[in-house]
Amino acid sequence: MRMYYQGRWVEKITTIPVRNPFDGTLIDDVPKADVSDVEAALVGAVEGAKVMRRTSGYDRSEVLRKAAQLMRERTAELGRTLSAEEGKTLAEGRFEVSRAAETLDLSAEEAKRLSGEVLPLDGAPGGAGRLGFTLRVPCGVVAAITPFNFPLNLVCHKVGPALAAGNAVVLKPASDTPLSALRLVEILLEAGLPPLAIACVTGSGGTIGDAIVRDPRVRKVSFTGSRDVGEHLCRTAGLKRVTMELGSNSPLIVMPDADLNKVAEATVATGYGNAGQVCISTQRVIALAGAYENLLDVLQPRVAAIVAGNQLDERTQMGPMIREEDAVRVGTWVDEAVAGGARLLAGGHRQGTLFEPTLLADVDPRMRISCDELFGPAVAVTRVDSIEQALELANDTRYGLSAGIFTTRLDWAMKFAREVESGNIHINWGPAWRADLMPYGGLKDSGFGKEGPKYAIHEMTELKTVVIHGV
Ligand code: NAP
Repeated sequence: MRMYYQGRWVEKITTIPVRNPFDGTLIDDVPKADVSDVEAALVGAVEGAKVMRRTSGYDRSEVLRKAAQLMRERTAELGRTLSAEEGKTLAEGRFEVSRAAETLDLSAEEAKRLSGEVLPLDGAPGGAGRLGFTLRVPCGVVAAITPFNFPLNLVCHKVGPALAAGNAVVLKPASDTPLSALRLVEILLEAGLPPLAIACVTGSGGTIGDAIVRDPRVRKVSFTGSRDVGEHLCRTAGLKRVTMELGSNSPLIVMPDADLNKVAEATVATGYGNAGQVCISTQRVIALAGAYENLLDVLQPRVAAIVAGNQLDERTQMGPMIREEDAVRVGTWVDEAVAGGARLLAGGHRQGTLFEPTLLADVDPRMRISCDELFGPAVAVTRVDSIEQALELANDTRYGLSAGIFTTRLDWAMKFAREVESGNIHINWGPAWRADLMPYGGLKDSGFGKEGPKYAIHEMTELKTVVIHGV
């Protein structure tokens, strides 16, 4: 496919191959952009921002609504593209398309709700005879840099609110998974988006990222990806607004009164989806002594039963990882844990990019599989003796994106909600659950700023204060 900027589709001689992570077959290729392409994209986006600023909320809403509809009509095709480039199963691919369409619909609704407020200026000394109000205006040019793991919905979480707010967007999708983002551009243009309102520049983040993020014509950077790249971008961005959606090693606490069948169901659903490559994947299960051994008995057969394989086969329940080096890393961390005394209850082996669904017990929280972000299909179970100890362990991490607890006791649930250092909190389910309308974002090194169209749109607009004197 070609990339898109200045209202046209652009080819280059040098390209980036896009491969199926399962077997390495070539799916397509995309241009390898350099900084001259970034410059051209920004020139176009500045003009696009002028056009977008003049559009009405109603018109922007209609474009986004139409795009959501087109996306739904193309669910099978888009879902397959997602599966092929990312490695998620066909069912996961179709589900992501349905969520992405929902995200665009939510953005369409928010486009109609951008409003300011009337200020009670006569409540201020000397304020009588004045009328004050606020106006919410677009930022101008928004840069969106996105990760590989949800290459359509996470792009929509940036592009949808940015366009709803009346901005132009320069999008840089992950190099492993650029195809669905380019399809989204096609859909938005077909839905009637002004041609200069979007650019999609395909190229290595290490090569073109700084040129996008540092540029003063960009007023807002919205980034989703790893912690270290996020930190680098924050240093590079300078004086501009930044949203950071970064990594995590999310905990799930299991209290002795928990329904262990439900816990096992939730752990499988939230620990191995997308081969564990979900920023809020259940990575650490912290079980109280009273639940520990029974939980392992219930969980082990369920993890062992997950069917891993070719993601393009409808029977497959878990696909490959994105790159072989990541699967190798997961293997190293699993082996390290076993060498350090952890018990391997399921999985543990790798074939190319395919890593078996893996379950480890007796994990020491200082092991890398527990204290770093794994981003792979393994769950580490650790035993504790009290809720205080469980909370201490849950919080003993630089991350704070999502956390879960299973208990029927309200006092335990509320203690957890108050004390766990996490942006998203789930009671009686695992950490990997998200409705696209909810405010979503992390604490600590998991980042700052919220997504969810209603919240992202605030971060992609500026507030002006207007005072009329003598009225
Ligand atoms: P990544 O390596 O940080 O890449 C993310 C994006 O940043 C890609 O588009 C990448 O481009 C670009 N990039 C890399 N180096 C850059 C640089 N120096 N300057 C500018 N851009 C640069 O992350 P990933 O492996 O794709 O995704 C996995 C990570 O994302 C995990 O840590 C996961 O937890 C996190 N994540 C967080 C959330 C959330 O909502 N909090 C959601 C999903 C994922 P290239 O592909 O060209 O390198």
